[in-house]
Amino acid sequence: MQKDTTKHPCFNKETAGSCGRVHLPVAPKCNIQCNYCNRKYDCVNESRPGVTSSVLKPFQAAEYMDAVLEKEPRITVAGIAGPGDPFANPEETLETMRLLNKKHPHLIFCLSSNGMGILPYLDELKELGVSHVTITISAIDPKIGAKIYSWVKDGKVVYHGEKGAKVLLERQLAAIKGLKERGITVKINSIVIPGINEHHIAEVSKVCADLGADIQNMIPLKPTADTPFADIIEPGHETIGPLRKEACKVIEQMTHCRRCRADAVGLLGDDKSVALCGTMKSCSE
Ligand code: SF4
Ligand code: SF4
Repeated sequence: MQKDTTKHPCFNKETAGSCGRVHLPVAPKCNIQCNYCNRKYDCVNESRPGVTSSVLKPFQAAEYMDAVLEKEPRITVAGIAGPGDPFANPEETLETMRLLNKKHPHLIFCLSSNGMGILPYLDELKELGVSHVTITISAIDPKIGAKIYSWVKDGKVVYHGEKGAKVLLERQLAAIKGLKERGITVKINSIVIPGINEHHIAEVSKVCADLGADIQNMIPLKPTADTPFADIIEPGHETIGPLRKEACKVIEQMTHCRRCRADAVGLLGDDKSVALCGTMKSCSE
């Protein structure tokens, strides 16, 4: 089935008023620990602490999708963005995509990942019709990465410090390359963390652009309680604006991100997560 891949409201701002997305919360575990994330309060790869009303099994997510499309026909995108990482839960993620590909092949399929575990699944993602992937990369220097990630898990091995940041970075950069080789549109999410990486973001933009990434989304850190970065002040436009201005010379910038929940649904900025919460709950019962 031919998809209209232009109708992704995050990748194409012009469609944001008419096309919506749903995040299916099927991925509870994570394979890294970012110092801004506290999944007690929920967390998505896009650095938005919020809540997900439920975690769904793949078959429940497919049923939920049916119900959502009935109530909100403007949905054009089905994505998985947490509450952990899609590839720390690869069975759930791929099974959900398989079911959606059978039932709703016209939808745009989108995944948001830290990039750590995605590499073994690139061919299958392509086959399943995944057209858009976001990789969150906030540092391309392991010294800086070591300040952002407290640990990185590779199979049964847990790495800390620069070693962990280096392993993660290698996977992330290989993921961009592999996704682009398969013709998949790639967005880079970069969390801007004052005092940690704001002077480094231009390098992140350049390295990702050189690998063929299509667009970058600089997201101001949203300080979350009970995390090492809880006391960092959220950067404002005076910080993000000049960073975007510089980076747009090498890579297109997304400027309309709403830092959505892991169970967001509807048009960007007009979220129906709460309104559809009952629908999700009945699917998870
Ligand atoms: Fe939290 Fe996402 Fe980082 Fe995992 S990758 S620790 S879910 S922000
Ligand atoms: Fe789009 Fe940003 Fe929301 Fe992700 S968090 S769905 S990129 S608006």
